[in-house]
Amino acid sequence: MQKIIIAIDGYSSCGKSTTAKAVAKHLGFAYIDTGAMYRAVTLYFLQNHVSFTNPKDIQRALEQISIEFRRSAEGRNETYLNGLNVEDEIRKLYIANQVSEVSAIAEVRHAMVEQQRKMGRKRNVVMDGRDIGTVVFPDAELKVFMTADPLIRAQRRQQELFEKGEVLGLEEILANIQKRDLIDTTRQESPLRQASGALLVDTSFMTLDEQIEHICLLADGVRYHKTVSSHV
Ligand code: C5P
Repeated sequence: MQKIIIAIDGYSSCGKSTTAKAVAKHLGFAYIDTGAMYRAVTLYFLQNHVSFTNPKDIQRALEQISIEFRRSAEGRNETYLNGLNVEDEIRKLYIANQVSEVSAIAEVRHAMVEQQRKMGRKRNVVMDGRDIGTVVFPDAELKVFMTADPLIRAQRRQQELFEKGEVLGLEEILANIQKRDLIDTTRQESPLRQASGALLVDTSFMTLDEQIEHICLLADGVRYHKTVSSHV
């Protein structure tokens, strides 16, 4: 069987990660959450008082950072920063509030993209992020661009945070989503946009199960096509 890369990009909180994870499980592929990598870098920068504007500090810090994903006993994909499990910490709002600034830094992007390419080179993967179809793997076999109405995204995010014990107002969450959308789409380095050849999926009125099923069907089609064409 030939190697397949599935790139899922899109706006914050439209169900990308949950969908990507479920699709990877269905296909037996590895799942790589690139947003978690930018969140882990942000956590490191904040903990170590790295200036976001000093290229030397940034470069030095990036050399000290090692990010990996490990599977927990319950089968959860967890992010480790320099050997420590930071999965819960990086999901907090104070990280979400800073991550787009950190991910807009060219040095940070170059370091992360290099690691992501290494991670995806050898295996079948589902990778989700903002620039997977445009920059990291522009030749991915399947490229999906997910979007949804900002208010619906804010409501989903509020519910998700509530389930984790963080009670926040809708306005605060909506403001964070809008701020991240603005920074992500207007930054100089690989801004968020629909890659050429990417299929647009608007999840505003889709349930999570529908999103997963839709992308699994697309992926099954790609795999079938690839298998058939390799036998011709
Ligand atoms: O996907 P998630 O919301 O966890 O991503 C957090 C942030 O990381 C995004 O708002 C974006 O600024 C940044 N990001 C990025 N490129 C990626 C993945 C995430 O710039 N490939």
